[in-house]
Amino acid sequence: MDDVLIVGGGPAGASTAFQLARRGLTVRVLDRARFPRSKPCAECLSPQASRLLSDMGVLSELDSAGARLRGMLVRSPDGTVARGDYDATHGFRPFATRGLSIRRERLDAVLLERAREVGARVDERRRVTDVARDARGRVEGVATIDEGGTHRELRARIVVGADGLRSVVARRLRLARASRWPQRLSLVAHYHGVADVGEYGEMHIERDGFVGIADVGCGVTTVAAVFPMSRAREISIDRTAFLDRWLASRPHLRSRFMHATHATPVVATGPFASRARRATHPGAVLVGDAADFYDPFTGEGIYSALRGGELSAETIAEALANPRRERDAFDAYDAARKREFGAKWWVETLIACGVALPPVANRAARALRSDPRLADLLVGVTGDFVPARRVLRPDYLAALLLLPLSSRQAPTTSASSEASHPSRHANRPE
Ligand SMILES: Cc1cc2nc3c(=O)[nH]c(=O)nc-3n(C[C@H](O)[C@H](O)[C@H](O)COP(=O)(O)OP(=O)(O)OC[C@H]3O[C@@H](n4cnc5c(N)ncnc54)[C@H](O)[C@@H]3O)c2cc1C
Repeated sequence: MDDVLIVGGGPAGASTAFQLARRGLTVRVLDRARFPRSKPCAECLSPQASRLLSDMGVLSELDSAGARLRGMLVRSPDGTVARGDYDATHGFRPFATRGLSIRRERLDAVLLERAREVGARVDERRRVTDVARDARGRVEGVATIDEGGTHRELRARIVVGADGLRSVVARRLRLARASRWPQRLSLVAHYHGVADVGEYGEMHIERDGFVGIADVGCGVTTVAAVFPMSRAREISIDRTAFLDRWLASRPHLRSRFMHATHATPVVATGPFASRARRATHPGAVLVGDAADFYDPFTGEGIYSALRGGELSAETIAEALANPRRERDAFDAYDAARKREFGAKWWVETLIACGVALPPVANRAARALRSDPRLADLLVGVTGDFVPARRVLRPDYLAALLLLPLSSRQAPTTSASSEASHPSRHANRPE
């Protein structure tokens, strides 16, 4: 019997496995996929994620396989473009001054391999179908099926659900709760030949959805578009044609995609709003998307998955060292997650409201554009190094949404031209 069985070998499972295996515990990771595998994602990691990658010893390998981002550009429905930089003058310093954008095939395979190197055993192509419980309801293992159709029950002292958004562990333990809002789906693809992709991740908010665009290295651009669920039927007819038509119908994107070609097929995913009531159950712990899904707009899921791995490993090691105190250790884990991620859940909700209401998005983008300090702080929060509470303060929210805009408001430009002129701070209002 292993000390810990981890269901899912994505960033959350790999991080948890790495942290536990290097403490000397016996760990087995089960994943239904064979790695490298793709994952629909906008593929941007916050600058603070680099601390976790560095701790795992994979930062330089990943650095050379992806691209570095100086910050984020947001274009609102009325064409206002605002830019926030990670390397800014607000006094909060990130671990790395740039974010990393990298294809998930590469990122996830490198992380899982690293967990293997420090001693975790990894069983690929083994799907978990259920959790096994003893007479008192305590989780004591999982039921699995391999690619040849052979069923097998595996036992462990603790089971970790790191199996993503539609976690079978969270569902079987009745911990998951689908959120009613926002109900959205996404189309994700890689392209070659997109024009003017600079050193900033781009978010283009439109009245009928939004799209993220970023360089992921080697001449490849990742494109992740999000639409309301009400368009699901239309999209299902031909998702590639739908995405290409949608991009071509935006004048500011049309010319940039004119000579672009698909590098990978368009993948659809969603709906994705979900949140767990708690992230623990006797004998089991949830981590990553299985516990809470972050809205793709703020792009923080990978950092939360990696950081969640650190937090969960600490809890699990404590519970295994002192099984009578498991309940206390698990309560402390739930509390630590709230402390670590709670304020960001609020920021995420506020951003989702703004994205859904074009006048609010326009107003906020104009405020961010006229005072780049506001933009840098917000991008620092999504970059995981500025405390989320900083942008929930009444003075910040008033400046963003209520106060009159500066008369020196800069004119709007295209996102691509903004990305290629990193001297923005020269125009910063006093
Ligand atoms: C459109 C979109 C864009 C996004 N953009 C970003 C972004 O730019 N930046 C960012 O940080 N985050 C982004 N995210 C979120 C990010 O993708 C997730 O937060 C992240 O992948 C969570 O990692 P995880 O390890 O928890 O789950 P996953 O990466 O989903 O890994 C779960 C693993 O579990 C395995 N699994 C699932 N079920 C089973 C089972 N029954 N048995 C065995 N194995 C199983 C899967 O094969 C998979 O390997 C985006 C998400 C979407 C949908």
